[in-house]
Amino acid sequence: MAGLVKRVFRVEPSFDEVMARHPRFPRLIGLKIDVKRRGVHYTKRAEEAVDPAVHQLRSPYIFGSRDGVIAPLPESLLLRDGTSILVDPTPVEQDPYVVDFVDGRFVLMDGGRFIEEVDLWPKPAYYDKTTSSGIPMSHVVGARPQRLNVFQSSYCYFWADDKGCRFCDIVPHTRQQRRELGVPDRRRPEDVRETIAEAIKEPGRFTSLCLTAGSVVKGEEVFDLEVDYYVDLLQAIGEVFATRRFPSQLLSSAFNERQLSRLYEKTGLSSYTSDIEVLNEERFNWICPGKAKWVGYQGWKDRLVRAVDIFGRGNVGTGIVGGVELAVPNGFKSEDEALSATLDEAEYLAERGVTTVSIVWVPRPGSDFHDQVAPSLDYYVRLCQGLQDLRVKYGLSVDFDDYRRCGNHPDSDLARIQ
Ligand code: SF4
Repeated sequence: MAGLVKRVFRVEPSFDEVMARHPRFPRLIGLKIDVKRRGVHYTKRAEEAVDPAVHQLRSPYIFGSRDGVIAPLPESLLLRDGTSILVDPTPVEQDPYVVDFVDGRFVLMDGGRFIEEVDLWPKPAYYDKTTSSGIPMSHVVGARPQRLNVFQSSYCYFWADDKGCRFCDIVPHTRQQRRELGVPDRRRPEDVRETIAEAIKEPGRFTSLCLTAGSVVKGEEVFDLEVDYYVDLLQAIGEVFATRRFPSQLLSSAFNERQLSRLYEKTGLSSYTSDIEVLNEERFNWICPGKAKWVGYQGWKDRLVRAVDIFGRGNVGTGIVGGVELAVPNGFKSEDEALSATLDEAEYLAERGVTTVSIVWVPRPGSDFHDQVAPSLDYYVRLCQGLQDLRVKYGLSVDFDDYRRCGNHPDSDLARIQ
């Protein structure tokens, strides 16, 4: 349906109208972006149709949801082409898409109109088990489509002197999760090793693992203690595998060459990602004050490029929170300007072997930017296409962060078809 649509925060073109401007862009990936951008509300009927014995429900996560509630709702929706939509339950007043259950199937609706049939991820077998120390395995390691996610530590030291990234809610969410679910802030290497050993017994499901945590600035050199912990953890995980290296991604602070070499040599880690979050120095300094203070924008980029010498081309990435560069009052004033600046910087990194993936910015209630609004669908479509075009131009793969492994980056979903 073409024509302007009045949303809670603004008037904007309809989904179909935006997609008509981008005939080359896959409609279902456009839908993924829009659903992530606006969130979802589950009807009572849909909630009752979710079967905890069959469907994968949200497990403890590093960031909170858009409604600030921890509830046993589906981890993700699945579209008919295999695209995952990791999406937050969102207050109905914010005009989200609606997930309903009609005639024995889950459906995505908007304004009372049927949009798509959706499915839910199946629950992994290990989610019903506990570690020998008595913790539910689903609290230790989460599952993505074909990847195991370890959120090994959910505290970020940038928050200690009030320099957390302004879009981030890690610390309030950690406190809430500890209070409501009893989830420990830090995972023990032994619990992680045991859970991964159990998870990979399930035939045909998992092909890689990813470790993510907040930054730890302590140590002789900044981040030394963070690296110490990851070495212990990755060595424990390595005991599960027969090969020296195992398919893995560490998503962490921007380490110096000595720290990166230590990780590469002492563990079986095979890829390294360090999120720069915003690809513009001025906006980075405003939005990510902790990263700016401890490493700096140019330093962060340099460390990513140095990592390519150690982990190899195609095995180093960075993530951005797509759209946060337009936050008010200090963000870019226009989407065109933001897009051009972001893609220029992504190209600088791509030329040097670093690939950039994006997520859709969700203004979360526990973050500094809780009352802001993400940019237009049109902006995200252009951003995602631009990032994928750079991968094609510079021959970069994104296998460790694609739709099979992660499922959270609409731009890397494009890598399977272009
Ligand atoms: S580095 Fe920034 S985004 Fe990451 S956990 Fe810390 S504050 Fe949050």
